Amino acid sequence: MNDCLPSQSPLWQKVEGVVKNVIGAYGYSEVRMPIVEMTHLFKRAIGEVTDVVEKEMYTFDDNDESLTLRPEGTAGCVRSGIQNGLLYNQEQRLWYMGPMFRHERPQKGRYRQFNQCGVEVFGIDGPDVDAELIMMTARLWRELGIYEHLRLELNSIGSLDARANYRTALIEFFEQHQEVLDEDAKRRMYTNPLRVLDSKNKDIQAILGDAPKLADYLDDESQQHFAGLCELLDAAGIEYTVNQRLVRGLDYYNRTVFEWITDSLGAQGTVCGGGRYDGLVEQLGGKATPAVGFAMGLERLVLMMENMGNLSLRRAVDVYVVTAGAGTMLAGMKMAEQLREQVPGLRVMSHCGGGNFKKQFKRADKVGAAIALVLGEDEVNQGTVVIKDLAGGEQTTVQQAEVADKLAHLV
Ligand code: ATP
Ligand code: MG
Repeated sequence: MNDCLPSQSPLWQKVEGVVKNVIGAYGYSEVRMPIVEMTHLFKRAIGEVTDVVEKEMYTFDDNDESLTLRPEGTAGCVRSGIQNGLLYNQEQRLWYMGPMFRHERPQKGRYRQFNQCGVEVFGIDGPDVDAELIMMTARLWRELGIYEHLRLELNSIGSLDARANYRTALIEFFEQHQEVLDEDAKRRMYTNPLRVLDSKNKDIQAILGDAPKLADYLDDESQQHFAGLCELLDAAGIEYTVNQRLVRGLDYYNRTVFEWITDSLGAQGTVCGGGRYDGLVEQLGGKATPAVGFAMGLERLVLMMENMGNLSLRRAVDVYVVTAGAGTMLAGMKMAEQLREQVPGLRVMSHCGGGNFKKQFKRADKVGAAIALVLGEDEVNQGTVVIKDLAGGEQTTVQQAEVADKLAHLV
């Protein structure tokens, strides 16, 4: 679990700002859920035989109830939607952003408290909305300047029935290859054989080429849905590869699943994953409602942006107000207040704590200000102020009434 320090927060603010703007441009509404839920919610939604539920949840007893720090947002979002009557016979297009918790081995791009932004759509069953979500993510990567470093993988995992048939075939296949399977795979081949498909074990990967293909078991509706989605993505000019082995780590998915992957973060290459989960609302006690969504890991996006360098980030301080001499402190404070009103968005810091000009200019440099405004006794008496460019060093004296105009370009 990490601190986000002042040196890092401008990049975080940029990423969060772009994410909110892009999602907002599609008309989606924000929901904010609690960070703890009943443990059984996650067990039911995510599935008992998944990495998350088997070994990654932070669970604790609260008197006689078992609670869990949320490891992801979809379960809580569905719980909230049902509980608040948002899903019954309605369409909802929602998003949320915030910390998630998973007890994993910490490494670059993988943390125990991390931040996700999730987008969830309820009440729409066509491939059009799947395409919209993918187009939204593509726009996001473009706005963040990382589109060229990401690729889209896509698959359809079909209906529950289709998957049940496929499951049976897979179990038969694994039974014939017992000698290659590791502990994890042996344990899972009967409970959740699809998960063996994305095993990282090289020996297992080697036999998977001969495993039955999910595509051969897909039901007609799922096939049509997938074809419809591919057509829309083609028309939108979004490139993708169909990865038949893509199954995703959580049990609730059906039909469309997708991931955006980068090669620039080592093993932690998936920055965004999502798909359809048409059965989940009913499974959690609501009326059957089609649903689709995705979640992206903000730490991994921030890492990608850092790797690329060359970031233009908003300064924390544009203008630093320096004063020296009787009565100048108050004049400086007043000018700073006025500027905050006259130039919305301008970031003005008044020097506090006294000291000579030299000390004050040092502070101005330290906080990274672009401009110092200097008020001595002469300036106050004459209604002027000195504008000093802290990078170049040149300075000009202007009337106080003009100063707002002279600084407006800094925003
Ligand atoms: P991975 O295969 O990397 O463990 P996952 O399939 O468990 O990912 P999801 O549950 O799909 O991940 O979560 C969506 C996104 O959240 C991931 O693509 C990733 O960007 C991010 N994410 C997941 N777990 C972590 C973590 N422990 N630390 C940082 N980001 C994470
Ligand atoms: Mg994981």
